[in-house]
Amino acid sequence: MRALNSVRQSAPQLQGLVPYDPKYLPARAYLSANENPRDVETEIRQKIISAIRKVPLNRYPDPLANDLRDMIAEANGLDRDQVLLGNGGDELLFNIALAWGGPGRKFLNLPPTFSVYAANARLTGTEVIDVPRLADYSIDEETVLERVGQGDIDYVIVASPNNPTGKLANEEFLAKLLDATDALVLVDEAYFEFSRTTMRPYLAMHKNLLILRTFSKAFSLAGVRMGYILGNAEVIREFLKVRQPYSVDAVSQAIAREVFSERQKFEHGIMAIISERDRLFEELGKVPGITVYPSDSNYILFKLEGADKVWEALYARGILVRDFSHAPMLENCLRVSVGTEEENDEFLAALREIVANK
Ligand code: PMP
Repeated sequence: MRALNSVRQSAPQLQGLVPYDPKYLPARAYLSANENPRDVETEIRQKIISAIRKVPLNRYPDPLANDLRDMIAEANGLDRDQVLLGNGGDELLFNIALAWGGPGRKFLNLPPTFSVYAANARLTGTEVIDVPRLADYSIDEETVLERVGQGDIDYVIVASPNNPTGKLANEEFLAKLLDATDALVLVDEAYFEFSRTTMRPYLAMHKNLLILRTFSKAFSLAGVRMGYILGNAEVIREFLKVRQPYSVDAVSQAIAREVFSERQKFEHGIMAIISERDRLFEELGKVPGITVYPSDSNYILFKLEGADKVWEALYARGILVRDFSHAPMLENCLRVSVGTEEENDEFLAALREIVANK
């Protein structure tokens, strides 16, 4: 007989999974989610508001956001059918697992890296094959090339720069990887505007290359949810089969069009973040007992004894950084996003004081 007021178990692949927790806590200085510390400037915001006024709210949005698609295609020297928008890069990361993963399929992961990749694989019943990074968090290139050489990997994701460790992958290695396999290789360039380095020129000669970008970081739109992939038209077509038709809403499309057409205006803020990153790196290096990892991105990973307690002490002072201290291969590591000059100064002063009083 059916038990009253009960629900049967969720899908087996969910057992043991924990929901992604971005530690969304109130703070004075948000240095935990690699966002742009400056919001969209007033002039662009005014344009956004005018654009939103014209958006019909009773109609479904253009499912493929073709206007925005064309703008992004043109900026990258590509055709419309080589670009696809998503509800944040996150949606596209889920779609790669749906389209290239699944039961009986294999995903090659390079931990420590963005944890969402492996979570999506598990959710879709995809086997995760790990090739751990070396002690300095560089990619174990030889092992990766050897592993894909076995021919059974269906897709690989390489974050470049890698989150949370910070460095770009070597271009030469990525080129070799693309040649060594017919697996789909996603190069996650979420932080491309800070690294100023892209694999885009390789798209012309490598059908198996896919590039992920986002509006969430350099373009100050983490709150809007807009990401995109650049790839071969055949690959994009497979993504069309798994995506939700209206995942990119009309308001977000309008906002992203305004921001993308004004993207030159973000350059100054991006350069400020890069120069602050370099200053933070240098200053962190002077704090006793801290190991700092170099970064091509807008965040810096650092390691110190008792990192969990240091995280708490920073948070008690209103400064929120990301705690990886108990994450595999990241023991005693914290990640700080590059903020404004004032925020970075505040963070550094607090950290120096906490370390001095330990
Ligand atoms: N890739 C990497 C490496 C990231 O760090 C993030 C954001 N944390 C994303 C993709 C996804 O970003 P979004 O969904 O905001 O576009």
